[in-house]
Amino acid sequence: MSESNNTLLSIRSLTIAYQHGNEWLEAVRDFSLDIGHGETVGLVGESGSGKSTVALAIMRYLGQGGRVVAGEVWLNGRNLLALSPTQMRHIWGRQLSMVPQDPLSSLNPSIRVGEQLAEALRHHMGMGQTTAAQRAVELLEMVRVPDPERVARSYPHQISGGMQQRVMIAMALGTEPQMLVLDEPTTNLDVTTQAAVLDLFRELIQRQNTAVLYVTHNLGVVARICNRVTVLYAGEQVEDAPTADLFRQPLHPYSQGLLDSVPQLGQHKSQASLQGISGHIPALGERPSGCVFAPRCTLAVDECYEKRPSWESLPNGRFVRCHRWAEIASGDISTRHPAQASTPPKPQPQSQPPLLTLDNVQVHFGLGRSLADTLARKPPAKVRAVDGISLTMQQGETIGLVGESGSGKTTLARAIIGLEPRTNGQMTFCQIPLPPTLSERTLETLRHLQYVFQNPEEALNPYLTIGETLRRPFITLLGYNRQQADTAVRHLLQQVKLPPHYADRLPHQLSGGEKQRIAIARAFATNPDLLIADEAVSALDVSVQAAILNLLAELQTERQNALLFISHDLAVVGYLADRIAVMYVGKLMELTETAVLLEPPYHPYTEALLSAVPITNPEVSQEHIRLEGDVPSQTNVPSGCPFHPRCPRYLGDICANQTPPWQTTRQGKQIFCHIPVDELQQIQKPVLREHHASEAHNG
Ligand code: SF4
Ligand code: SF4
Repeated sequence: MSESNNTLLSIRSLTIAYQHGNEWLEAVRDFSLDIGHGETVGLVGESGSGKSTVALAIMRYLGQGGRVVAGEVWLNGRNLLALSPTQMRHIWGRQLSMVPQDPLSSLNPSIRVGEQLAEALRHHMGMGQTTAAQRAVELLEMVRVPDPERVARSYPHQISGGMQQRVMIAMALGTEPQMLVLDEPTTNLDVTTQAAVLDLFRELIQRQNTAVLYVTHNLGVVARICNRVTVLYAGEQVEDAPTADLFRQPLHPYSQGLLDSVPQLGQHKSQASLQGISGHIPALGERPSGCVFAPRCTLAVDECYEKRPSWESLPNGRFVRCHRWAEIASGDISTRHPAQASTPPKPQPQSQPPLLTLDNVQVHFGLGRSLADTLARKPPAKVRAVDGISLTMQQGETIGLVGESGSGKTTLARAIIGLEPRTNGQMTFCQIPLPPTLSERTLETLRHLQYVFQNPEEALNPYLTIGETLRRPFITLLGYNRQQADTAVRHLLQQVKLPPHYADRLPHQLSGGEKQRIAIARAFATNPDLLIADEAVSALDVSVQAAILNLLAELQTERQNALLFISHDLAVVGYLADRIAVMYVGKLMELTETAVLLEPPYHPYTEALLSAVPITNPEVSQEHIRLEGDVPSQTNVPSGCPFHPRCPRYLGDICANQTPPWQTTRQGKQIFCHIPVDELQQIQKPVLREHHASEAHNG
């Protein structure tokens, strides 16, 4: 990280502290980084690692409770930390700009989006009123905002979170800054929009020679866009390397752990369980004095607890902070163990009656009308959230349900659970008709049909101890007495790998990952035949996500329950599922065995999703297919094939007007498309291809 002529931003030994009571606790220690013109550096680490703190310090946005204790941040030869607020106002905009994690915190709720963009352009770019207003709309179009004129006229609360994020990206790019700080800028975006926005970043970085610090927890995004990566753990840089080198041979045990926590697209639980990282980041003020990672490191030796490792400069521009990096580099030691299958591949006993059948299930509901619509006697708009889904699930099977937001995945899950009554269609569960609402269902059905949501808080009463929460299903659904229930709770905690004394804790005393384990334990308490998990790992750090995925796979093997696993993340779904169902505006587009997911032919929508997933394997190249526009509104589902307005393989009138047929491929995939499967097979290439590593990053 030696400063060169090309260096634009140079951070030197930055130490940042936050106030806790009367104390100042170090959140980031001794952080150094150089970023050159046209260079994109990824800053990665789990929550609590200090990534966003570094980003805020560069911007001089640290609030009252945070302060820079030591160090310098040089931009264009000026130390930003020594500038007055007035001087900083001249730096923000043209020289330095940021896309924050939470767009709402940066948008003024009382000013229209277009006006806010135009104001930034007038102020920083010196544009006149009319030019700025026109440019604002162009910028919205550039970040793929559908109907940019309408969005420009909207107030921030009238547009979705993903749209607000795109507005912030447009605002940051519009001032053509030399240095751009991006703090998780694509977190709220669907994978297809994320892929398009990442393309846009790449294009602009190249065109404007922008320097970028890209803060993210998503290693696939780093692999796609960054030249270098710096890995932060508990406020300390532990490794810094060119992206391809780090992904090919991480030298720090924490970097290895992060990479091994994320399932690769195409990796399945039957091949190997995820390695993950046990434990969690120490809280501020509890950081160990030797190596900060020692309590979680499987390679720790006595020296690691006694002496802080130094920041070593290695050949090829790499840096690492580990006493044992040389042994790791030579391959003598590793945190990586030989692959161990977490679950045996599951035969599908098709002869058995299905556990769950969905037959043409629809969930439609009317929207409230505005006063103007009521006066004009317009009928209320109808939302077709789920529009004719048919599917069967076998005992013990895992089906992954994927699709972008607005595809109807969650509504379908809620209809099966009974939280959203279906409008039409039939469901059977254990060969018995499943009534539409929870209140009509028997205790036996409730017992055998359980669910886990994204937010574990929904399953945990903040005033009940974990023991009380877990005891309830045993007593109410299984008729256990108190003593039997207590024994069962202890066993359950053991199964989700939490110590028995957690029964006495309240939810607020648990971390996010621990709460999700409790939610899973509660769902498994009654030994259900079917568990529905809706984005159950999406909000978790990758190491915790890996532990939860392993846990789900293990419990399922042990208990042979079926799992409907809903996620926007195709790699995670592919890891866990036996079959995958792809949904789009309320309809199924494809149903496939996971084993053949990556083999063509694909439904054109699946093909686009697969090509948009950020992948972490530098040895693999990926087809480049990008979708135009957004998922259409469920109130205005396109005619014919609902995917036709965005389909890269659109055939013409037949797609726009006629419902496609279901076709079956030789591998047994079912595809809802007008293009004959043999023709699809000929025109589609495999979305992922193994190739030489050096091509992967440059390609
Ligand atoms: S210094 Fe020791 S504890 Fe720290 S990462 Fe290296 S081997 Fe692990
Ligand atoms: S039916 Fe037509 S629009 Fe729909 S996926 Fe197939 S080719 Fe595309």
